[in-house]
Amino acid sequence: MTHVFHRQIHADYPTAVAGDGCYIVDADGRRYLDASGGAAVSCLGHSDRHVIDAVVAQLQTLPFAHTGFFTNRPLERLADMLTTAAPGPLDHVYFVSGGSEAIEAALKMARQYFLEIGQPARSRLIARRQSYHGNTLGALATGGNQWRRAQFEPMLVDVSHIAPCYEYRDRAEGESLEDYGRRVADELEAEILRLGPETVAAFVAEPVVGATAGALAPVPGYFKRIREICDRYGVLLILDEVMCGMGRTGSLFAYEQEGIVPDLVTVAKGLGAGYQPIGATLVHDRLYDAFRDGTGFFQHGHTYMGHPAACAAAVAVQERLTESGMMPGVDLRSDQLFAALRDRFGGHPHVGDIRGRGLFIGLEFVADRATKAPFDPARGVGATLKKAAMAEGLMVYPMGGTIDGRRGDHCLIAPPFIISEAQVAELVDKLAAALDAVLPEAK
Ligand code: PLP
Repeated sequence: MTHVFHRQIHADYPTAVAGDGCYIVDADGRRYLDASGGAAVSCLGHSDRHVIDAVVAQLQTLPFAHTGFFTNRPLERLADMLTTAAPGPLDHVYFVSGGSEAIEAALKMARQYFLEIGQPARSRLIARRQSYHGNTLGALATGGNQWRRAQFEPMLVDVSHIAPCYEYRDRAEGESLEDYGRRVADELEAEILRLGPETVAAFVAEPVVGATAGALAPVPGYFKRIREICDRYGVLLILDEVMCGMGRTGSLFAYEQEGIVPDLVTVAKGLGAGYQPIGATLVHDRLYDAFRDGTGFFQHGHTYMGHPAACAAAVAVQERLTESGMMPGVDLRSDQLFAALRDRFGGHPHVGDIRGRGLFIGLEFVADRATKAPFDPARGVGATLKKAAMAEGLMVYPMGGTIDGRRGDHCLIAPPFIISEAQVAELVDKLAAALDAVLPEAK
């Protein structure tokens, strides 16, 4: 009997005892190829000496110093590194311990910013239906995933949700990518006008949607249009890069590929790469200056923010991510993985879409490729695939959920950036075997 309150109480989890490159090893000696980085966390695999040594060295020097009393060296260094790397005047960083905390900080910062500049009516948030921004109440209210939200609806603040940018399902026949992007982006303007622009604080979106839709990338021009609309009405743009950031899509920040600069950006997961829990909110100078010249105090905080060991890990991760070969390596393995997936599943009767960017790739499963009809939820394709893949010694991140009254089964593939060409082949072979077990009729 376990005394741990596992999230899935009846699940029979193997015990992980070791990490070895792209693999996790269980207590029976079984090896699992971690093709999802857990949930897009482990970008450097599970035994990076440089990061491990940095954490150990920090713990031996200074394990903890509360940020209400001190700043610390790894904290200052990490802020320097991230703000130097982030395009645009995002020159300040607020450090927390994970993705949900980074989102909560961004939401509160947006709200307090408008108080600082004398626009107290601005508190409303707009986000998208196909989105996940975390499980704490503010972050949960912001996300659109009904499966995660349903039980807590009475406790959630009222957030407006507009359409996601979901080309595979929503682009009309004959509609160009640009026209489609403009049409869905314009829903933001309509919603701002409906709410009253003077009441809206921020729009929140993942540049590439992860946990609710399996690596949904925006169409060209979508985020440029979103930025224009935010600017027209004085609304802040918060980009959630908790999953898609830190090199996952082939650039350190996913927003770099959209040619825009957001007002706030959240990162986590790959920031600590699993070696330590850490998240961060990057802040535009305009916002920081308003706080500095206003109350000089952000009304928010957590005990473990700016934790020295977590920051030391993230500094070492940044050093690895910014090595000259790292991002070209992501591009190379991305090409190999996309090619192998398309080769193996491009004609699969139940794989409707293979999509994504960099090493952030999604497969969408359908009952019928021609009509794109999803599977009956009772069949639990996502959950069964996770089990079948584990039986093959493979970790992928499958999901099935109801968003916008719409059901779908997806699988997210987000392997460590250090994955080899042979491991790419192993990944696809094991995924094919798992899919055959789940959908035997397609064999
Ligand atoms: N935002 C996004 C885009 C995420 O994918 C997640 C987690 O999956 C979160 C926020 C929440 O992060 P955490 O689980 O670290 O609180």
